[in-house]
Amino acid sequence: MDKTAIITGAAGFIGSHLVDKLVENQYYVLAIDNLATGTWDNLRQHTSAQVRRLTWDITETPDDDTLMIQNADVVVHLASAASPVHYRRLAIETLRVNSLGTETALQLARKFQARFVLASTSEVYGDPQVTPQSETYWGHVNPHGERACYDEGKRYAEAMTMEYHRQFDLDVRILRFFNCYGPRMQAEDGRVVPNFVRQALLGRPLTVYGNGQQTRSFCYVSDEVEGIYQAIVRRGLSGEVFNIGNPEERSILNFAEVVAQIAGVPLRTTFHPLPVDDPTNRCPNIDKARKYLGWHPQISLEDGLQKTFDYFRDPSPRN
Ligand code: UDP
Repeated sequence: MDKTAIITGAAGFIGSHLVDKLVENQYYVLAIDNLATGTWDNLRQHTSAQVRRLTWDITETPDDDTLMIQNADVVVHLASAASPVHYRRLAIETLRVNSLGTETALQLARKFQARFVLASTSEVYGDPQVTPQSETYWGHVNPHGERACYDEGKRYAEAMTMEYHRQFDLDVRILRFFNCYGPRMQAEDGRVVPNFVRQALLGRPLTVYGNGQQTRSFCYVSDEVEGIYQAIVRRGLSGEVFNIGNPEERSILNFAEVVAQIAGVPLRTTFHPLPVDDPTNRCPNIDKARKYLGWHPQISLEDGLQKTFDYFRDPSPRN
């Protein structure tokens, strides 16, 4: 193995795909997860010693006997609930993993002189008043509302990450993920993609929240992971922040139409109350990622949804 990566949140949706990518690229992976929302089942395709699973809550500092590694090249901190339904349920845990957990992960990176990659979120922009959102936009966030545990948790994580960069010269990169989807999303996590795909497969109406005019942009997970990988391997990007998302913006109603079309069913919808503080729009400006990471999404929504449908019909790791 050429290199060693520590991944927190490795048993989750994005984490497990990142482990696949790093294994393909000859990394030894220390996969850490407390299984609050992830499952080791997502890594069942990895049977060799190249991946070591450590069930651990990253808000606690692991000692050397627990880590069982002498060096690391990169620490990627993905651990956190990410679906609004989960982070509402796990609100205090979400604040803790993004505050204490981020600092523990930063300390690990410092101990090993490893590069640090933070999974941040478009939620740091809150309900944005500019569109598309560039990395220079400071956001419009409710600091004590129902989404604050996630939004403010990630904003704190960004601030702490930058202090480790400034004070200890740690090589850090911050990635703001916009909506990502694909195989290994949990059927029950309440997000729009698994909800609509499952509802379409069961022949049920799609549950649109609010009037469906709010927008999101959907990035297929293999594209997302390629963006993370570029942020892991490229030199000279310390202290930089990147939006990672698909710049194709759609209303939720339009998204419902595409889901119905891919499923081959007529569009039927029911309307439900909009969750508190649900952002009205979200669309990344990815010029910076294009320029410095040489990255942009490749997979169309239609192709990505097709693969997502395949997975929800047959949830095996090959899908
Ligand atoms: N949404 C919806 N129906 C659902 C689930 C979500 O209309 O069954 C809406 C939700 O209100 C939001 C958008 O879809 O405007 C994306 O929601 P999701 O929970 O996937 O992620 P978010 O972008 O809010 O973090």
